[in-house]
Amino acid sequence: MVDVAETETASRRMSVAYDDVVSWVRAFAADVSANKEQLTELDAAIGDGDHGINMDRGMSAVLGKLDAADDEQKDIGALLKTVGMTLVSTVGGAGGPLYGTLFMQMGTPLGGKAVIQPEDWLAALDGGVAGVQARGKAEPGDKTMIDALIPGRDALQSALVGGESFTDALRRSADAAGQGMRDTIPLVAKKGRASYLGERSAGHQDPGATSSHLLLEAAAETWAA
Ligand code: ADP
Ligand code: MG
Repeated sequence: MVDVAETETASRRMSVAYDDVVSWVRAFAADVSANKEQLTELDAAIGDGDHGINMDRGMSAVLGKLDAADDEQKDIGALLKTVGMTLVSTVGGAGGPLYGTLFMQMGTPLGGKAVIQPEDWLAALDGGVAGVQARGKAEPGDKTMIDALIPGRDALQSALVGGESFTDALRRSADAAGQGMRDTIPLVAKKGRASYLGERSAGHQDPGATSSHLLLEAAAETWAA
């Protein structure tokens, strides 16, 4: 766990409101849809070729929920819990429950908040990562979504502790997730379906790390000042 209190003095130059969080979720859905083929091809190489289809189905259902939602409460935590529960109930396999857990656990520290600060976003990412690890037991280097999410979380924390603006910290977070995603290529999978391939999983980028990079990239782009 990272020490969120350490970032208490971090820049407060920017905050993110409920509607901005909705925009981020919508941007992620659009990115998943645009990259559906790539995610599916990556999963075809080391899994069962359904990651793009799974995530697109889930995020389409999320968009339907957002359109129907009564969001008068403007509760960001409740919003992310709804996103997570929708993914769990509409996506099978490993990806759905893991992404569902990620969003639900991200929502926990944001419960009741209509506006969040940079340190809240760090707490959300930290909670989400902890949830995915509790559920899937993956460690860094196991060639999973964790290999994009942990570098993304850690880069966010370092940037905030270093006093960078939230915009810059989000960019560093997304870039670190991208590096973590590319760094999965030589890895031998230790978790999930790809682990059944053993050494033959090496040489391919992990699909879940790729979609997790999209998630953090969407935040950096959507919330850029
Ligand atoms: P499935 O493997 O059931 O077909 P998906 O194809 O939707 O599910 O998702 C595959 C992705 O899930 C992998 O690329 C990997 O990143 C992630 N994954 C699989 N198992 C785990 C795990 N135990 N912990 C974290 N992530 C995992
Ligand atoms: Mg799959």
